[in-house]
Order: sequence, then C-alpha cells, then structure tokens
Amino acid sequence: MKGSDNLVVGVLVEITSKSVDRIFDYLVPKYLEDKIEIGKRVKVPFGNRTLVGFILEKDKNSGVEKLKEIEEVLDEEVILTKELLELGEYLHKTTLASLISCYQVMLPKGYKASIKSDVKKKYRKVYYLNDYDKKLTDKQREVVGLFKGKEKLSRDELKDVSISILNTLVKNDILRVLEEEVYRLDYEESDKKIKKLTPLQENTVNNILTTENTVSLLYGVTGSGKTEVYMELIDKYLEKGLKSIVLVPEISLTPQLIKRFEERFGNNIALLHSALSDGEKYDEYRRIVKGEADIVIGARSAVFAPLKNLGLIIIDECHSDSYKQDNNPRYNAKDVAIKRAKDNNAKVVLGSATPMLEEYARGLKDVFNLVTLEKRVNGKELPKVELIDMNKEVGRAKGHFSLPLIDEINKTIEKGEQVILLLNRRGYSSFVTCSNCGESVKCPNCDITLTYHKSSNILRCHYCGYATKYEVTCPKCHEKSLKDLGVGTEKIEEELKEILPKARVLRMDVDTTSKKGAHKKIVDAFSKGDADILLGTQMVAKGLDFPNVTLVGVINADTSLMLPDFRSSEKTFDLLSQVAGRAGRSEREGKVIFQTFNPDNYAIINAKENDYKSFYKEEMKVRKLMKYPPYYYLVSLNISSKDSKLALVEAKKCEKVCHKYLDKTIILGPSPASIFKKQNIYHYQLILKYQYQDNIHEVLEKLVDYYASINKVNLDVDFNPIHL
Ligand code: ADP
Ligand code: ZN
Repeated sequence: MKGSDNLVVGVLVEITSKSVDRIFDYLVPKYLEDKIEIGKRVKVPFGNRTLVGFILEKDKNSGVEKLKEIEEVLDEEVILTKELLELGEYLHKTTLASLISCYQVMLPKGYKASIKSDVKKKYRKVYYLNDYDKKLTDKQREVVGLFKGKEKLSRDELKDVSISILNTLVKNDILRVLEEEVYRLDYEESDKKIKKLTPLQENTVNNILTTENTVSLLYGVTGSGKTEVYMELIDKYLEKGLKSIVLVPEISLTPQLIKRFEERFGNNIALLHSALSDGEKYDEYRRIVKGEADIVIGARSAVFAPLKNLGLIIIDECHSDSYKQDNNPRYNAKDVAIKRAKDNNAKVVLGSATPMLEEYARGLKDVFNLVTLEKRVNGKELPKVELIDMNKEVGRAKGHFSLPLIDEINKTIEKGEQVILLLNRRGYSSFVTCSNCGESVKCPNCDITLTYHKSSNILRCHYCGYATKYEVTCPKCHEKSLKDLGVGTEKIEEELKEILPKARVLRMDVDTTSKKGAHKKIVDAFSKGDADILLGTQMVAKGLDFPNVTLVGVINADTSLMLPDFRSSEKTFDLLSQVAGRAGRSEREGKVIFQTFNPDNYAIINAKENDYKSFYKEEMKVRKLMKYPPYYYLVSLNISSKDSKLALVEAKKCEKVCHKYLDKTIILGPSPASIFKKQNIYHYQLILKYQYQDNIHEVLEKLVDYYASINKVNLDVDFNPIHL
C-alpha cells in the first residue's frame, strides 16, 4: 500500500495467550517517525481492536505486503531499557513463559503495555508572585504578604485563602498559577543519626565490600544487626556513586524496617510494593526512572527497578518463599538479582538467620561468600527455649494452653512486659493428625504427609499419586483419634479471654489486616504498649522488633511439620527460629515456649537449641536420601484441562516424552495435583528430579510450545518450584 521507503517496526502486543507471542510488523506514518524508539509503547490496530505493544524492532524489511499503521506513540521516554529488554529475554528463556508476560511482570501498572491502564500523573496548582505596580486591597495585600521569603506557594499552603481572591490576583497579573506535578507519597526527612557499628558488623561490611564473589550470604542470627549492615553497605556504595535495591519479603509487613531506612536516607528511597495504590507505584517508578532516588526498597518485582549505576542488591530474609512468583512467569527474584549483578558488575547480599538449605550449601562450597554474625548486637544470648510436651498435658491443658505457658504469660504481664503468641496455621486442615499420639499419615514412597481429600474421603500423596482410604484409627497408636484438626486465631483469642480475662489482646491475621494500613496500626499500638499480648499467625514471626517483648509462646509448633512438602521440616525450623528471635531484643532477657506433640523431632529440637548448623546437617541427610534439593533439581509440570480424562491422557503423553528424551531424570507421576479441581479445571502433575540434564530446557520448551498451539489442554512448567 505505502511506499517501500516507509519505516517498519516490530511490535510485541499485550495478548498473553502463548500462541500470539509473536512480533507483528507495522508501518510508521511519517509524522511519527521521530518518536519511534525501541522499548517505547505504541497503539496499534489488531484485528478489529486496538492494542498496546512494545516496539522491539526497528528498520525492518517486512515480508508482509499490506501492513497496518501505528496509531500513536505513547511514551516520550523509553520504557524497556536495554537492560530490561535483555532481562525479559532471560526470563523468557529460563521460565519458558511468554515474552510479553515477562516484560509485563517487570513494570508497574501505569507502565505496562495495556489498553486498560490509565494511571496518570497527579498535578497541583502552584502560585508564583509577579512583579507588580498595582494598588492592592487590604485582603489582597494580606495574601501577597504570605509570599514573603517564598518562591512559590501551593494551593494547599494557601488553603485559608478563598479561590475568588486568588483568581482575581491572577487575572490582575499579580500572581501567576502553574500546574505542577506532585508525587503521591511523602517521605520523612532523614535525621542522619547513624549507629556506630560494632567491630563484628564492621568486619562484615568490609568482608562484603572486598570479596571477589558476586554473591555474599550473610548468615546472622536474629538481632545480630544485619539491617544496620545493609544500611552501611548502601552508604558505602552511594559514596562510590552506585545505587542499591533492597528486597524484602512482604513490604507491607515490615513497617519497622521501612521506618529505619527512611530515618537514615529520607527521600533518597523509592518504595515499590503491592500495598501502594497504582498512582503511588507509578510515581515511585517515575522517580526511579528520572534518577531521583538512589535506593529502591520493595518486594519481589522491585528486582527489576531500572536504576542506572546499580551497585548492590540486598535480599533480606532470603529464605522467604515470596521471592518466587507462583504464576507465570515463575521467576525467582534471587536468580534475577544474581543475573543483574553479573551484568552490571554489582554485588548481591543474601541475608537471613535461617538461610535456605540451597543457599547455605552454596556458602559452604564457596559458590557464595559466606559471612556469619553469630552474636546479638546487645551481647545477650539468644532467648532460652522450653519445649512443652503436649502429649503430657492432655487433660490438664486449658483449651490449647498448657499450664506452664499460662503461668509464664501471667508472670510476664505482671512485670509490665509483653507477650507474642504464634498460632502456626501453615498446613492446617489439609491433613489429618492423631489427637492421641500426634502421628500424621505419610506416603510410603515420598516421605511426605498425605493430603486429606474430604469429598472422596481419601488420603493422597500428591507427589506420586499413592492413595489410601481415610480411617479414623491411627496407624501408630491404634486409637480411633485420627482427625482433621483445624483451629483459628479467633478461637484462641476466645480461650485467652476465658483464661486471662484481664489481659489486653491484639490479634493479627489475614482477617484483621486486610484493610490498607491495618497491619501498621496493630504494630504501632502494640509498640506503644496498648496491649499485653500480640496473638497472630505467621505474620507475628517476622521482622518485628519490640523491645518490651520478653515472652514468645508457640501454641502449636508442629502443624507445619505435617505439610505435604519436602520443605516442611525446613519451614518449621525457620518459623520457630524466627518467632523465637522476637523475644529479648533489648536489655531484658527473653523466654520462649514451644508447645509440641513432637518433642523428639529434629526440626523442633534444633530450633529449641537455636542450632542452625545441626538442623542443616540432619536435613541434608534426608534431602540426599530422598533425592531432593539441593542434591537434585526439581521441575514441576502441571497439565490441566476442563476435561479430566483428556488432562490425564495428555499428562501421560508428557511423561512419555520426558522418558524418551530426558535420560538422566527421575520422573514421578502423573498424579492429581494438590488442588485437583480448580474452577472446573482438572490438574495433573509430573515431577522431574535431575542432577545433570543439559537438554531439559530444550525438551520442555518444545512441550510448552506444543501445548500453546492447542486449545483444550494447558501445560505449565515450574523450574525449581518452592512448593510441590
Ligand atoms: P537483624 O536485622 O539482624 O535482626 P537489627 O539490625 O534489626 O538486626 O538489629 C537489632 C537491634 O539492634 C535493633 O534494634 C538495632 O537498632 C540495634 N542495633 C543494630 N546495630 C547496632 C549498633 N551498631 N549499635 C547500636 N544498636 C544497634
Ligand atoms: Zn508419594
């Protein structure tokens, strides 16, 4: 249609369906040519719709004859920088997710290629005083007087002045008014108060600054001063003109950490997390793009923050599941961080009191630079932990509370000190436990707890598919006591009210924290001493620093042991260690009580002794024996369809393909996935375990491409899954 001298560009559009992950060619009308740049967004006609896409190719020679024209170039600045373009490719290759989904996941809503996103800049009216030689009324003189010593005043600062006076002043050329952009988030001024590091912290900082290794693993017990180390490192990099990213598990759950960073760095930080509004995220992202913030703090996707001169990426609580995205693209922010660090000649610091086994193993093998902080900053020992064997409390306990725990809570409150109580909800209600002996039924093939399927009354292993009928008789003690135990924080709160009617209790769980800012409110109230007891789920275990907390009680240390997951022991150890670390963080000594039905379990015992290294050794033996990470890599394939028979047939086909081409890989399944039927779609799972299998990406990519091209069945691949 058009002359062949027209510019042709390749555009990747927003459709996420795999089959259209293709670049389409468009003609650029002459008047838009100047604006064309790779990485900008454009509006294009697509079928009978209009879509938004990224320009990925320029100066093309298109083979297609009748090309459509680009309708609009949406950006002044490039959105996908060179580095982001490459990161998208990297995600696409390593996760096998569609390229467009890989680009979209890196960007906040206002920057995504989407026809729907309409996040806008926020403006405010700002008034400036002109030179003038007019006579003013008294009222006008008053207003003009407000400008003394000020360059400009916003409408907000002039809120006591009526708009009609302002309008008149503008009309008479005495004031002029401009629309200026404002950012939606405010930061406090930094107070520049910097703690002097202890010699141990000092050594840690120097070690990390000088290591040749890209990745340092900072293994430091709770309260050892890791956060101060992070801040010092960031300052050291700032001095060199280099910027930092700090990843935290769930930022809305770490108000205290944010506060410390804000106090030190003021508005040199930008926040990126899900609790921000779309507008706030958009503003924060623009501040990063414009180079107005040198430090980005955020959850998983902040690892993509387009900072120039990136020097350092810190990943706090690096063992957290939240760094892995559990839908497509299933990337792990730690891998992305390491990739970015290598590309930018930057460093990564992984910090944790309970690193993942994979991480610590790499530390021991010098793949990572292992740095240890084994003592608390306050010089205090870690709090003593007492185990209460709940088997022996049967008949004596009040509800879920043993007598010794009640006694300790009483004593603590009487001293005017505070208590944290954890109800371990993880894994509840999906498995059955014997209320007599504490046994849970395991798979003979996989050494994981069987999942209870209520509808079919069956206990099933969702790794290998092994199934057995649910009987109330316990296989170990032969009592008829095997049941589905489930208890919530609400129930525990009721019990507390009965046992300790005078105690003031704050509850923190998904129900009480669903509103924006609710979590922070609870934390602040407890900080101020508005309550004696903070009762909650996993949320109370992480990152909180309350100097007045001297007792931590865990109602049910065991429940996460029964999770149908090879990481269940590790999860239990982490949770118990983390929550124990909430006690005795200031001058007063802390005490911790774990109530358990499994006082002999190595995860519980090692958490009690605060012995990460012994736990590591024990757990590594199990992993080796059962061929789990870090000895083996895992891949999980999820085959799903509305037609359950078809899903199984295709799952078996996948299994055959894997058998044929992946000669050094162990293949488990297909078995029904842990949630077999989800929104009327049936899911089957295959699990692959391997140590060396060079062609695995290649083979799985072919499978993924095949299923992308057919409609009725879907295949989802998860490399290094966190949960199976
Ligand atoms: P972690 O992140 O390892 O749990 P933090 O950095 O939160 O440890 O430190 C624990 C407590 O000790 C915090 O209250 C912190 O303010 C304090 N702290 C850390 N380093 C120092 C230091 N060098 N001097 C004084 N107090 C410190
Ligand atoms: Zn099994």
